[in-house]
Amino acid sequence: MSKRRKGKNPDPIIVEGQHEAIISDELWSLVQARRKSKSFKQRQSNEPFLLSSLLRCPDCGQGMVPSITTYTRKDGTKRKHRYYVCSNFHNKGSAACKANSIKAYEAEDEVINRIEKLVTNKQKLYKTLKEINSSSASSLNKLNKELEQIENRLLEIQQLQDKYMEAFEKNTLPIDILQERLQKVSNEKRELEQKKNEIAVHLSSSDSKVIQPELIEMLLEKFLFVY
Ligand SMILES: [Zn+2]
Repeated sequence: MSKRRKGKNPDPIIVEGQHEAIISDELWSLVQARRKSKSFKQRQSNEPFLLSSLLRCPDCGQGMVPSITTYTRKDGTKRKHRYYVCSNFHNKGSAACKANSIKAYEAEDEVINRIEKLVTNKQKLYKTLKEINSSSASSLNKLNKELEQIENRLLEIQQLQDKYMEAFEKNTLPIDILQERLQKVSNEKRELEQKKNEIAVHLSSSDSKVIQPELIEMLLEKFLFVY
């Protein structure tokens, strides 16, 4: 057995027209054309929208999403304008919110400028990050305390349920009263579980995480460098 048969030939020789084509020339060119138009479209929509969903709508607080409008100039050439618009408006229309559109370049320049200022003024950078962290920490603290109270109450409820059942079994609690009491505690339990879930969502969101100032400083500097 020769060595050559083990691996694939790295330099295959393509002989045109010598064999029956696996796909017809017609289909081949169709596929190529589609591929080209697709990648062109992708490039169009992949234009850098640096602040996509980082900007917040001033009216509803939802993220702002990219929007491109094309217009034709007097000389016939086409120009594109990039904007950020409220995602609520974008997805659900004018009943949900206003467009609040903002020119992408202006918004991006403004943000870049502010980052540059922040990175050059280390004292201010650290002060700002400290403030963000301490407000995150205090909201984190509050949520954790609330969670603890809920857990405690859920335990009490469990004990109450056990107590009611015990009394019922000892024939000291009539069934209609048992049902009424169990209903009441199970309602409360459901509300508490719901609150617990909401708090868990908050706790896992980035808003409540404490960030390392050194890490942010490094990321911002890297960001400016890449940009
Ligand atoms: Zn909005």
